[in-house]
Amino acid sequence: MRVPVSGGRNAWSTVATMRNGEVSYWWRARGGSPPRRPSLPRPQEADVCIVGAGFTGLWTAYYLKGMRPALRVVVLEATFAGYGASGRNGGWVTAALPGSRARYGRGPGGADGVRALEAALRSTVDEVGRVCAAEGIAADFVKGGNVTVATSPSQLARLRAGLAHDRKWGDGEDVVTFLTRDESRQRINVADALGGLFTPHCARIQPAALAEGLAASAERRGADIYEATPVTAILPAGGSDGSGGSGAEAVARTPFGDVRAKSVLRCTEGFTAALPGARRELLPMNSSMVVTEPLPDSAWQEIGWSGFETLGDAAHAYMYAQRTADGRIALGGRGVPYRFGSATDKLGETSPETADALGEILRRMFPAAATAQLDHAWCGVLGVPRDWCASVSYDAASGIGWAGGYSGHGVNASNLAGRTLAELVLGESSELTSLPWVGHRSRGWEPEPARWAGVHGLYALYRLADRLETPEDAGSGSQARVSVGRALGHIGDVISGIPH
Ligand SMILES: Cc1cc2nc3c(=O)[nH]c(=O)nc-3n(C[C@H](O)[C@H](O)[C@H](O)COP(=O)(O)OP(=O)(O)OC[C@H]3O[C@@H](n4cnc5c(N)ncnc54)[C@H](O)[C@@H]3O)c2cc1C
Repeated sequence: MRVPVSGGRNAWSTVATMRNGEVSYWWRARGGSPPRRPSLPRPQEADVCIVGAGFTGLWTAYYLKGMRPALRVVVLEATFAGYGASGRNGGWVTAALPGSRARYGRGPGGADGVRALEAALRSTVDEVGRVCAAEGIAADFVKGGNVTVATSPSQLARLRAGLAHDRKWGDGEDVVTFLTRDESRQRINVADALGGLFTPHCARIQPAALAEGLAASAERRGADIYEATPVTAILPAGGSDGSGGSGAEAVARTPFGDVRAKSVLRCTEGFTAALPGARRELLPMNSSMVVTEPLPDSAWQEIGWSGFETLGDAAHAYMYAQRTADGRIALGGRGVPYRFGSATDKLGETSPETADALGEILRRMFPAAATAQLDHAWCGVLGVPRDWCASVSYDAASGIGWAGGYSGHGVNASNLAGRTLAELVLGESSELTSLPWVGHRSRGWEPEPARWAGVHGLYALYRLADRLETPEDAGSGSQARVSVGRALGHIGDVISGIPH
């Protein structure tokens, strides 16, 4: 612990000891980036070629080899397994729907299909825990549920409205419950908490530990993972794009030669825009995190958080946090939302201003941690489709499949997506393959510069709405300010189509 340099904006970034980037704190806690597996040694044939070794690709490989051990499954990874969002995230294994009920409900399964997807996501949290236990993956999995806290009357009103909506969809107390101010603070003592929502369907993990353990488990089942092997193009069977896919096999092209396979699966989420032909499919949305030094027992006594729930708030530009197994608070938020031209970060380095802003949120919510040093800041990209609805797709004719677009809810959803993609590739029909996100299509993002201007404009609007919604005093001017904030937030939701 230390005394802040000042209360000013740059109090934390001036701390020379704060690491920035290095992929993520989660990897640093495991001793840094893992030793590299070999690159693809030569052109190869496979039954299934998976592009990208994040959770989506690794879960798909793991289940495919479990279902059909004889299949030759090759995973091609540009950097190392867990380099992307899967090794950098907030560690919420959340059953939250990665999309909009209304939009999924327009599919042939209607509202029942949406409920089936939500039920499948809830049981997926346990499936992740089951695999961790079965494979001996020490990923600090604790199923403590999730608390969404309201720190302003507007946030509280939003939570109540969201709860009423959930009840209409049939969610009972077993899915989500309201927390009074005291109940919320008893779980996690957040300053200014006015109440909250609790769902038991969420677990906390150390994400890099899960990615590393999952890669090893897929290899034990016989999948081959090649690292430092960027795929430069994915070509459908039959070469319908005229650029070389041959006969009955799809192709993943790399600098070391082609992998030809009956199925090639694109599991590159936030990096997808860099692949030819996919520039407008998924927007690489940036998210940043900071982690404190380990907090002393006195701070934990003040904060509570003995249930290891994951924690978020109901702001428009919301925060998310977990209590780590090594006694720190890891907290994230949007920061710079998007880089022009779908560019991605360099080794997770985030802007000092973003780290400062996250530090301010941390100090505001947890006065007991106000003097804790921030040890590390980092960022990463997650994939967002234009309609904010994730999908799992496979076209047997071209042999091309993909999953992603989880819009920030991919840790849990990628497991369900991986199991589903495995079944689609094997041509099996099941409850999973009839869920409404299977084959769901979203229109593409606008070309630049409209895409950059739209996303930055939206988050500027959300930040302003959050500021206005936080009452500064009880006067009538303050009420008007709050109303304007609520209206702006609503306008932002309508324009963006972000599901709430
Ligand atoms: C900071 C942050 C916090 C988040 N917090 C949460 C959270 O708490 N809970 C939650 O549910 N979700 C969260 N998310 C989102 C979640 O992490 C992702 O949705 C999920 O990890 C996506 O997994 P993936 O395997 O699809 O993609 P990734 O993990 O990004 O993996 C894609 C992989 O593909 C590789 N790749 C890319 N292009 C190529 C290519 N051309 N050739 C070969 N390989 C390639 C990349 O190197 C990468 O390893 C967060 C994301 C971020 C960035």
